[in-house]
Parts: sequence; C-alpha cells; structure tokens
Amino acid sequence: MSDVIQIKNIKRDFQLGQETVKVLKGIDLNIRKGDYVALMGPSGSGKSTLMNLLGCLDTPTSGSYILSGKDVSQLSDDELAEIRNKEIGFVFQTFNLLPRTTALDNVALPMIYAGKSKKDRDARATEVLKNVGLGDRMDHKPNQLSGGQRQRVAVGRALVNKPSIILADEPTGNLDSKTSVEIMNLFNEIHAAGNTVILVTHEEEIAEHAHRVIRLRDGMIESDQRNR
Ligand code: ADP
Ligand code: MG
Repeated sequence: MSDVIQIKNIKRDFQLGQETVKVLKGIDLNIRKGDYVALMGPSGSGKSTLMNLLGCLDTPTSGSYILSGKDVSQLSDDELAEIRNKEIGFVFQTFNLLPRTTALDNVALPMIYAGKSKKDRDARATEVLKNVGLGDRMDHKPNQLSGGQRQRVAVGRALVNKPSIILADEPTGNLDSKTSVEIMNLFNEIHAAGNTVILVTHEEEIAEHAHRVIRLRDGMIESDQRNR
C-alpha cells in the first residue's frame, strides 16, 4: 500500500508576542494514494493550519512529514516552493486568481515555474479548462466569470502540473448551495480520475462525497472514519 502522505507527531506552535499558542498538538496521519478525504472540525480547531502544512505552505514546529517518500518537514522556502509546484495543487476558499489575467493564463501559470514552453502551456491549459467545463471561457478574466466558474479556474490551476495531492480549504465556502454541489461533483470527477483529494468543509452533505472523514478538535484528531 503506498501512502502519499505520512505524518508523525506533527506539532505547530505560533508565537504571539510573549505567548506560545499551541495549535496542532501531535497529529499522526497516513493518507494513501487515490484517497478522498474530508477534513472537518469546529472553527479554530486547526484545519487550515494542517492544510497549510500538507500543502508545503508552512513547516511544522516538530514532527515529520513524508510526502511521496520525501521528508519535507524541514526544507528551506525555496525547496518548499519547488515541492509545491511539483507535488501540490491547492484550492482556496477565495479562489486566489490573478485578477487581470485570463482563465487560460491563470491555469497556465504553474507551468511557467515548471519551465514549460508557451506552446506546451497553452495546449495543457486548454485541455484542463475543457476538463473543468470552461472550454468556452478561456479568454475571460476573473471578473467576467461567476463564483463557480472562478473556482473551476482555480481547480484547473491546481490540476495543471499533475500534482501528487489536491488540497482544497473550504472550496465551496464562498459559493451558493447549487454551485457548491457542482463544484463537489467536479471534485468527485477529479478523484475518480485517480487523484488524491483532501478537502476541508463545514458541511456534512459536502463531506458525504468523500470516502474518509477526519475530524479535528482543538488541534488533535478526534475521529477518523472510512465511509467507503
Ligand atoms: P480552522 O481552519 O480550523 O478554523 P486555523 O487552523 O485557521 O483553524 O486556526 C487554528 C488556531 O490557530 C486559531 O486559534 C488561530 O487563531 C491560530 N492561528 C492560526 N494561524 C496563526 C498564526 N499565524 N499566528 C497565531 N495564531 C494562529
Ligand atoms: Mg480554516
């Protein structure tokens, strides 16, 4: 069984003035390739802090994180940036698109860092935009797109370099319920295509799409249940 993520006793403290705030208090977690995980828990329980560690946007105070067989727990910022570009697709609640850039160029952006030619970037970004249902919106800028379409662009950007894991922190948090269902159906398709997907949600109906539900409470894993 190949585990794409192996985490042992991860802790994350933050320093606030004189005070040390212990946010993650010892997390053990293995996630196998192709799994579909929902991460739940009350506001402030540490979900985003954990997602940022999983996504190599941050490093732990202590503990180890092995991603695709490589220890990424104590890398420099430059090394982390390289791992992120290669291994991670991250989708944010607020989409985080470049506002003055077309859907095509937003999706193509991670391939610039990966050193792909313009021709290859355009071909792959076109393919990905078609896959996320935006074949007819490639030249639109974010403010010419609906919220759901913006999130589709962000999902396309996350997929474009074929990462080892797709992480999404409350990807439907800014969307109405009908659009949320459409975006969740897109994540279902992405998982069915063989991707490893981990997403944070507050809503039980959204979490039901996943095959495994992990609940955090106060910086610790409270429960870890497999549905399928
Ligand atoms: P969740 O995503 O589950 O709502 P977060 O991971 O965002 O929770 O935050 C968990 C706790 O960690 C909160 O109490 C938050 O204030 C604290 N926290 C998060 N990031 C920082 C930081 N950079 N500095 C200090 N405290 C932080
Ligand atoms: Mg959060």
